[in-house]
Amino acid sequence: MPIYEYYCADCNTIFQFLIRGSSGTEIDTPVCPSCGTGLKRVMSNFSVASSSTSPDDVGDDPMLAGLDEEDPRAMAGAIRRMADQMGEELEPDMLEALTRLESGEDPESIEKDLADAGYTDTSSSSSPYRDPGLYTP
Ligand SMILES: [Zn+2]
Repeated sequence: MPIYEYYCADCNTIFQFLIRGSSGTEIDTPVCPSCGTGLKRVMSNFSVASSSTSPDDVGDDPMLAGLDEEDPRAMAGAIRRMADQMGEELEPDMLEALTRLESGEDPESIEKDLADAGYTDTSSSSSPYRDPGLYTP
């Protein structure tokens, strides 16, 4: 069964819907599980475009300047050093994510787990929140 993504402008949230039936079947547009507004279908490249903003945000930090953003291990090390210098304890979930980064795991899957754990940063950007749930219309 295909999973489609729908966007609610009122909630600024993307919801995933499990759609029954084959892909050629006409389906009813689901409504927002949160506010009941009719939802807009999201094309798959939408999420790619919005997630590409995060490396740029990190790159603005002077302490991370010059780092290879394509090197997850270097990034993880820099985050550890930064927390160290600020005397901050990293959250257990964040520590685990860094450890996974350093062991060469796919950064995107780690990022997704962090988002599931509530680390999605919706306050500093207008990127829609991605609801971790899976709904049916
Ligand atoms: Zn809504």
